[in-house]
Amino acid sequence: MKTPLPDYLSETMLGCFDGGAVADYIPELANVDPDQFGVALCTPEGTQYEAGDAEVEFSIQSASKPFAYALALETRGAAGVEAHVNVEPSGDPFNSASVDEETGRPDNPMINIGAITTYALTAPDDWTAAERFEHVRAGLSAFAGRELSVDLDVYHSEIGTSYRNMSLAYLVRSIGHFELEPSEVVAGYTRQCAIRVTARDLAVMGMTLGTGGVNPVTGQRVVSEETAQRVLSVMSTCGMYNASGDWMTDVGIPAKSGVGGGIFGVLPGQVGAATFSPRLDGFGNSVRGVALFERLSQDMGLHLMGVPPASDAAVHTFTIDEAPETRVVLAFQGPLRFAQSERVLRAFEEIPINELPVHLDFSRVTSADRVALRMINEGIRRLGLDGHPLHIDDPKDVLRRA
Ligand code: GLU
Repeated sequence: MKTPLPDYLSETMLGCFDGGAVADYIPELANVDPDQFGVALCTPEGTQYEAGDAEVEFSIQSASKPFAYALALETRGAAGVEAHVNVEPSGDPFNSASVDEETGRPDNPMINIGAITTYALTAPDDWTAAERFEHVRAGLSAFAGRELSVDLDVYHSEIGTSYRNMSLAYLVRSIGHFELEPSEVVAGYTRQCAIRVTARDLAVMGMTLGTGGVNPVTGQRVVSEETAQRVLSVMSTCGMYNASGDWMTDVGIPAKSGVGGGIFGVLPGQVGAATFSPRLDGFGNSVRGVALFERLSQDMGLHLMGVPPASDAAVHTFTIDEAPETRVVLAFQGPLRFAQSERVLRAFEEIPINELPVHLDFSRVTSADRVALRMINEGIRRLGLDGHPLHIDDPKDVLRRA
C-alpha cells in the first residue's frame, strides 16, 4: 500500500485560497515567488510527509524566536531569562515597544522587542558576537537535524533598514535588561531571522519541541524537557502575533509564524507540522498557511483542547486458580499517565487483603510518565505491605524499579 498521507496533504492544499501580500518592509522578501506553497509533517518517530514546495528554502524570520528562546533558557535557566523577558501576551503588533510598565521587561520572547533581548541571553555575555551567533546557528541546526545557513541577501537587506529594531534594542538596553552593545544584538538577531529553512526543516524543528527536546530524526537531545514545555507554552499564548487568541481557539496548536511565509505548529507527542506560503494577512501570518492549519486541525483532530480518547483497556484483572496456588493477575497496557495510573490503583484497591500472590504484568505497557511512576510504585509498595507475595513482570523496565 502507498500511504495516503501525501495525497491528503496535496488535496487539502488545493482547498486553501490565497490572499494578502508578501512582506516588503524587508526589501529582499518582496523578491520571493509569492505563489510557492508547501506543507510538511513530522511524527514523533521521525517519519516525514510532505507536499508542494516543502523543500524550498526561505528565511525563517520570526519562526526562529521559539528556538532562540529555548537556547536562552538552556544557557541562563528559566529564572535567568524571566528576569529579563516576560511570558505575557502583548496583544500589540510584533514590532511594538511592549514592555511591562513597572519592570521594563519586554512582554514576551515572540515579539521583536522580547526576541532581541532573548538573543542577547542565548550565550554568556563574555562571548564574542561571532561565537554568540554561531551558538544560535548551530542550535537551530540541531533542532533541524542539518546544518542551516544564513541568507546574506536577506540579512543585508533587513539590517540596512532596521531602525525600528535598533530603537527597541536601545530601549531595552537603557532599561538594563541586557548588557551587550545594542547594535551587535540587533545584527545577531537579524542574522538569526535570515537563517534559511524549508517547511520540512520547520516540521522537524517543531517535532523536536513536541517530543520534549529530542530531535526525532537524529535522536539527539537538543534541549531539556522543561525547556521544550516552556517554549511550547509561550508559543500557545503569544506565537501568532496579535491573532494568537483566535488561532488557539480555531486551530488549537501551539505555533509560530514568520514574515518569510513560514508557520510551524506542534501537537506534543503527535505531530510537528509546517507550511510555507509567502503572502501574509494583516497580522503578518501566511494566508494559506493559516487556512491549511485550520483544515489540518479539523481533519486530523489536532486541537490541543480536544479530549484524548480514554484508554479504558489499561488494566485487565483476572484470577488464576491453578495448583499449587491461586494468584491474582493484573495485566496493563498502553501508555500510563495520571488517568491510567488512577485506574491501576483502583484495581490494586479491589484485591482482597489476604496472602494471595499477586502477579503484575507490565510487559504491554509502552511508557509511564513521572506521575505514573510515583503512583504505581507506591501502589506496589502498599500491596507488599498488605502481605501479598508479588511477582512483577516488567521486561522493558518501564517502572524503573531499582
Ligand atoms: N526579522 C523580522 C523583524 O524583526 C522578523 C519579523 C517577523 O517575522 O515577524 O522585523
